[in-house]
Amino acid sequence: MTERPLRHRTLYIPSGDIVLRAKDENYAYLYRVHRATLLHYAPKLADVLQSATESDSVEEYDGAPVVDLPESQTEVKAFLEVVYGNEHTHMKRQDPGAALFAAKALVLITKYDCRELRARVVRHIGADWPQSPREWLALHQMRRACVETAKFLAEDAPVENIFPEPASVIRLAQDYDIPSVLPAAYLELVSVSRKNDWDALRQGGGHSPFASLGSGLDWDAIGRDARLPLDVRSARWSLLTRDDKARLKSAKLELQARCMGLRKAVFNVPRGNCTGPSLDCQTELKFHRGMKMVCDMDDDLPGAAPFGRMGYPGQLEDMRQLVFDGRYYTSREKRVKPDPMALLQDLFECVPDYGLCQRCCDGVRYNIAREMQRIWADLPAIFGLPQAISTIA
Ligand SMILES: [Zn+2]
Repeated sequence: MTERPLRHRTLYIPSGDIVLRAKDENYAYLYRVHRATLLHYAPKLADVLQSATESDSVEEYDGAPVVDLPESQTEVKAFLEVVYGNEHTHMKRQDPGAALFAAKALVLITKYDCRELRARVVRHIGADWPQSPREWLALHQMRRACVETAKFLAEDAPVENIFPEPASVIRLAQDYDIPSVLPAAYLELVSVSRKNDWDALRQGGGHSPFASLGSGLDWDAIGRDARLPLDVRSARWSLLTRDDKARLKSAKLELQARCMGLRKAVFNVPRGNCTGPSLDCQTELKFHRGMKMVCDMDDDLPGAAPFGRMGYPGQLEDMRQLVFDGRYYTSREKRVKPDPMALLQDLFECVPDYGLCQRCCDGVRYNIAREMQRIWADLPAIFGLPQAISTIA
């Protein structure tokens, strides 16, 4: 049976002088491109092109020689989109399908050792994932702002539809050696329930991210269909290996321990700095140091305890608990997740409410920033990763 020829909408370029063909059961996908451009980026393709175009029986299509490639049409297409700078790969930031797309493109990029193209893809993927506390904060704030904006505009697409997805980038980074994105991606997964599978949550609309790669992703359509809460967090859990999951599990224990120790470090400000009624500040700081937090590690329990749940003895503390309950305890958004970066961010936002003098507030803020730096520096060790050496040239 002959496959039906299909010309690609944008990658069948009339001025091209060679036709690349990838087949599946039903179709022969045709990409008309420029031999000189291909050889510029992928010199190792020269043999393939030569043997296909200089044999005795050269097949032609539309006046140009045809070269069959054994890869799938999505892989060939992704590769050519990187070559020609089309659409997703290095034009669109923070696309939850970017890592899946990059993995497709890297099949040919790796096979033909196209270093410039690899650097382009790695740079694009790397730019979506924080490499420092500053970048983490910026992304965290942007996500919050997007949730608030979506609420304001009464939008119904989950905000995660416009942010990169962690499990697929972990798979990509592990398979194609891009270690710089791993700490942030693993940390992101800490806040995602294992019950929330990206694909399963979106099954109703028939949108499989893998299936839709061939024709481009319509994330807005997925969002409209999904009937998901705005701030739902999910991941493509099926892409993780047993090793990935084990790494995450043991890291959560370590992160929990870090969370438990944060208050002591954050609310430790020397008495000598104080410009207010020193006794009041120190009493307040001591109170905050002594508060216990319970990180609930069982994230699969429906209605798991909210973030920052605290227990402490004493009448005075009980009265205070009401105040803190208002912030932490009754808020359904603040679930327990052992993410020390998010916890520090929460503490930072509460600084004006602590009733401290300006200098002591500054001291607490300084401590929060310092702890963020420490946690961030330790993430590779916490997740059992080699020290992330940036491969972003
Ligand atoms: Zn003070």
